Amino acid sequence: MTVNTLSVEQYQQIKQSGLDKPQLTYNDIAPVLKQHQQNPLFKFTQLGQSALGTPIWQIDIGTGPIKLLAWSQMHGDESTATAALMDLLNFISAAEQKKWRDTWLNEVSLRLVPMVNPDGAAAHTRFNSMGIDINRDAKALQTPEGQLLMQVAKDFKPDFGLNLHDQNRFYAVGDSNKQTTISVLAPAFNDAKDIDAPRKKAMQLIGDMADLMAQQLPGYLGKYDDTFSWRSFGDTFSGMGISTILIESGGHPADDNRQVARRLNTQLLVMSIESIGSKAYQRQPLTAYQGIPFNRSDAIKDVLIKNLGISVNGHSARVDLALELGINNSKPARIQDIGDLSIYSSYHQFDASQLVYQAGKTYALTKKLKLDKTTYLQLLRDGYSHFSGDTKLIENQTDWPVVFSNKGLNSAYPMRYQQATFLLATAEGVEFALLNGQLLALTQARLLYANGR
Ligand SMILES: [Zn+2]
Repeated sequence: MTVNTLSVEQYQQIKQSGLDKPQLTYNDIAPVLKQHQQNPLFKFTQLGQSALGTPIWQIDIGTGPIKLLAWSQMHGDESTATAALMDLLNFISAAEQKKWRDTWLNEVSLRLVPMVNPDGAAAHTRFNSMGIDINRDAKALQTPEGQLLMQVAKDFKPDFGLNLHDQNRFYAVGDSNKQTTISVLAPAFNDAKDIDAPRKKAMQLIGDMADLMAQQLPGYLGKYDDTFSWRSFGDTFSGMGISTILIESGGHPADDNRQVARRLNTQLLVMSIESIGSKAYQRQPLTAYQGIPFNRSDAIKDVLIKNLGISVNGHSARVDLALELGINNSKPARIQDIGDLSIYSSYHQFDASQLVYQAGKTYALTKKLKLDKTTYLQLLRDGYSHFSGDTKLIENQTDWPVVFSNKGLNSAYPMRYQQATFLLATAEGVEFALLNGQLLALTQARLLYANGR
């Protein structure tokens, strides 16, 4: 069993404030980097800059013979581990951690490269500013960011590499209904997925990670798809003899900004430094790695509305609806699937077995409308679910979503890929309104779940 040096309580003390956000940009981490830059424990070097000119830093810590490289956010919209690297800097530099630091500073040389893709981060996109997926540029090396990462690997010659990403929130662990909050992989270096000495070491260190996860959050660790990906950095580094580990941060119930995965990343980083320094990982059998269940894709839905009554040309049915939310209003919430969806689990579930679908009417705005709770509820009871006309005419005094559509969202029955805005009624009238994926209970005058996952 792995020693867990960074407890949850300690983590709360060193957790960097201001980073509990869905998306981090360079401006979010620049003050944290600046704060640590003068610390003699850390050696900051500007590696270079992104295509659009934002600095990319490397931070060296320790003088030991075993070298560990960790980099984050080569996909701009995957910032969870960048926050974890800031937390790690706080933990390493904490005055009360001197004794802990002294156990490994002479054993390990740690090099961190946070936010490899600051341009993609600023644009909230996976790609760099040239539209290239940096993690498919390991062979072509046409992006300045990818070139820098390869240069680091060639100059530093790390023994271990931690490749830190986010994965979508719809994966489950194996056959379970649990979200994959963390997934790991020792990437293959060829199609045969051969295991050479460096890959074996990566698998053994993952064995220690599995122990930590079993202790911290049992059941939420999955293994990422291990198909060889020739153009990717992890697989390429693996082929260069670096013991490479992919760590993917995923979703968790009631955790929109992946703060659970962030904390686990920090704990995994701390543990990895220790395990590499003490060579503890060498005790792990490969069966520990092999026993981690694979990620199951598209297993978890954002919202499941169960057993809603619908009628199409006289054919009545009770169906389940799966909704996909547009996180942070990035896009409209949509109906993703219809039918018997009993094989899926979800972040939010709603029993509609007493309710039937009712198309909402369009309320055409002609003059100013003050939308307080009473007025809004009355409109919904009268069968309106959305508005058309000049959006500026509405003054929304509630914190409920207001849906606009000039085309109208009046389909007589739910349809795939349609925006998730309609009414749910009994014989007595409208009881619930689905407003861009958010369920409003009319009698309670409240949303049933917060925006997000
Ligand atoms: Zn990624």
